[in-house]
Amino acid sequence: MKLKFLITSLTSCSGCISTLISSDIFPQFLERTNISYFPFISDEDKIEECDIALIEGCISMDSQIELLKDIRNNAKKVYALGTCAAFGGILSLSKKKKAGAISDIVQIDGIIPGCPPPLKLIGNCLIRLIENKKIELSEKNLCSTCPLRGNNNIPFEKQIYKLNPSGDEIATLDEISNCFLNNGILCLGPITREGCDHICIEYGIPCEGCLGPVSKDYTSNLINFLSLFNLSKDLRKYKGIFYRFSKPKIRW
Ligand code: SF4
Ligand code: SF4
Repeated sequence: MKLKFLITSLTSCSGCISTLISSDIFPQFLERTNISYFPFISDEDKIEECDIALIEGCISMDSQIELLKDIRNNAKKVYALGTCAAFGGILSLSKKKKAGAISDIVQIDGIIPGCPPPLKLIGNCLIRLIENKKIELSEKNLCSTCPLRGNNNIPFEKQIYKLNPSGDEIATLDEISNCFLNNGILCLGPITREGCDHICIEYGIPCEGCLGPVSKDYTSNLINFLSLFNLSKDLRKYKGIFYRFSKPKIRW
């Protein structure tokens, strides 16, 4: 029997749904499911009972709360699609807008993290959902399989003085042999869930943590992690490090 899906967006750049639509698995997904509500591709505007709801985007307005509760009441399972829905996302950097994870408002059954979620991860998760199976994410951090880790332990004694390599320092994986932290560049691999096949690392860019934490609460993990290093003064003032993808739970 085909499962009935609802797919919609709250506050977002639509990058996660665009990635879903452009994934190789999407035509198969359309064939093997019934879509009850998906404003991106259908005119259907009534929220009906469904098996699975995929929600992209964070909560940033009171009006979204009722919509989310309505979806929760009508869906057997609700999943957060992407880092905004799962953790609050990039809007957490705003000083003017509140931004929260959908789990701040309703109980959820799982997340498909990433900004946007990598294609392979989306594909694997969709196949599991089509087959009515639970989504399983890795419980390991990015460093556990990082090609730059080698036999090195994390060099906590180093001074971290940069958020990113400068343009002329960006190199391909063949040209880099050392963990970014060893070169004084902040990489959030140690506190970030693996599951992206190290996309950024492969392109010579350190991890910014878009897949979110392995365990709950990114910000407290991050503060503990950064406290182990000798951070340069400039970086200590840069609050964007803490709220790039999530803020601690907020009150609505
Ligand atoms: S800190 Fe970054 S570069 Fe170093 S091993 Fe972990 S993921 Fe790889
Ligand atoms: S390396 Fe980090 S920032 Fe890049 S895709 Fe993976 S989790 Fe996201």
